[in-house]
Amino acid sequence: MNRQPKVLMLYTGGTIGMIRKDPSGPYMPFALENLLKHIPELASFDCEIHTDSFDEPIDSSNMRLEHWQRIAKRIKRDYDSYDAFLILHGSDTMAYTSSALSFMLHNLSKPVILTGSQLPIGIPRSDARENILSSLEIALARNEEGGALVPEVAVYFEYDLYRGNRLQKVSSQDFEAFHSPNYPKLAEAGVHIKYNRTALAKSSIGEFQVNTELDTGVGVLTCFPGMTEDLIGGYLTNPAMKALIMRSFGAGNAPDLPWLLEGLKALIDRGIPVLNVSQCLAGEVDMIKYQAGRNYLEIGVIGAGDMTFEAALTKAMYLLGQGYQGEEFKVQFTTNLKGELS
Ligand code: ASP
Repeated sequence: MNRQPKVLMLYTGGTIGMIRKDPSGPYMPFALENLLKHIPELASFDCEIHTDSFDEPIDSSNMRLEHWQRIAKRIKRDYDSYDAFLILHGSDTMAYTSSALSFMLHNLSKPVILTGSQLPIGIPRSDARENILSSLEIALARNEEGGALVPEVAVYFEYDLYRGNRLQKVSSQDFEAFHSPNYPKLAEAGVHIKYNRTALAKSSIGEFQVNTELDTGVGVLTCFPGMTEDLIGGYLTNPAMKALIMRSFGAGNAPDLPWLLEGLKALIDRGIPVLNVSQCLAGEVDMIKYQAGRNYLEIGVIGAGDMTFEAALTKAMYLLGQGYQGEEFKVQFTTNLKGELS
């Protein structure tokens, strides 16, 4: 690349750009200019950085489909004008956004890196500065052919780069807030940034495309000892439900409660897919292993393999949004679309 690379940095909100008006008050988002004031080192990068921000930066617990669509549409609009995209995002729902974007963006040949921080940038011990600077270095990294080294949706946090649809937030107070239990880190930042070349996605030669249609009709049912029909049975007949994720135990096991099995079978008979995602972070759903899993396999529950909950949820939203139903939905859900499934 002979010209200076161009990076679009989009601030959506989150701790990284928050302040406290008074020491005992809550953190509130503030404007992007204040964020940049704190990282003068950005000027030393050999690239052009353009910044933009959500009109009203949000705490990421307020992230909704519309926000994911806004980010995806922005990348689509500016895809040809930039070499990389850096999304500054709250850490609370970052794994949902990065998973959703991975399904919405197709044929990527440029990096889309999300980052955030546990402490606001204005605080002396903040992790924000390092996270932004290393993310930028990663976004600019090139391979021997001159293409992007990380042509995928990824998250950088506390010296590690993760595949966007493989990570989960596991700590609200450690700087090391994320974990990717079923897929190796894409890179580790020490004195040098060490890339895991075999784990990184290959650059696509296809035409970049964006599908922003998602459907929110995905219900979630968490299994727990002591769950009763009185409390939960009604949820299974909710007419708004177009797919249901059952958060099972261990390798995909759930209690053999007749009302639960019958309720799920009734959903499946109505063409509503029921997806089995384990509450265990590491490992995969294997419904053959125990009778407590087989019961559910036999009524047509679909195992999510080693997908994270965040990936399974956003994938289901994406597939429903694309109009997939029945067997076609099952085939797509159990197929590795964007590196989310081993
Ligand atoms: N509540 C914040 C958010 O997710 C936390 C963070 O940014 O780390 O927006």
